[in-house]
Amino acid sequence: MRFDRLKLNGFKSFVDPTDLVIREGLTGVVGPNGCGKSNLLEALRWIMGENRPTAMRGSGMEDVIFAGTSRRSARGHAEVTLTIDNRDRLAPAGFNEDDHIDIVRRITRDAGSAYKINGKEVRARDVQMLFADASTGAHSPALVRQGQISELINAKPQNRRRILEEAAGISGLYQRRHEAELKLNGAEGNLTRVDDTLEQLA
Ligand code: ATP
Repeated sequence: MRFDRLKLNGFKSFVDPTDLVIREGLTGVVGPNGCGKSNLLEALRWIMGENRPTAMRGSGMEDVIFAGTSRRSARGHAEVTLTIDNRDRLAPAGFNEDDHIDIVRRITRDAGSAYKINGKEVRARDVQMLFADASTGAHSPALVRQGQISELINAKPQNRRRILEEAAGISGLYQRRHEAELKLNGAEGNLTRVDDTLEQLA
């Protein structure tokens, strides 16, 4: 499973539709200061379900929408599409039938984000789980921000452990455990209510 193509439309400085083919091997992005190199990395984080505006260097998630310049007006929505090459069939079950997986995230002003996987509307969680099961995601240590290395050197051991867990591919399991615990608590609450009702009837 590898990233094949990244399409941006109205995302940050990429106001016009931009289509980037990611070839096998090492890809370098070069350009003058402020040309949008970090915005590309942020587009990858965003499509993988990032929901913290600070991680996108913004104060609200709508800040990812092209804000306009003196020559061009602001856009009403932003869209990023990531195509994954899945010919090795390493995508998690449920998404593993196709050679290519298209993931789309679109944000519209005042209407929030919507996600699609291969044309089908899905929840943010489905996209996050797809990447978590493939040992990557918006918080993947493979995406290194400016200044992150020095943060890591000074990090607490618990935070460093998260990176090892991500590399071991178990972060998706943590999310599932958390959801299972919530269901269990709900079921225990229901059982208590059943006991109360039975006592009243007895
Ligand atoms: P450097 O080499 O200095 O780190 P860079 O190539 O990584 O720069 P970015 O930080 O990705 O550049 O891009 C910054 C540019 O993106 C700025 O010109 C900024 O005005 C523009 N930008 C960010 N968000 C938006 C937005 N919502 N609308 C329009 N332009 C935006």
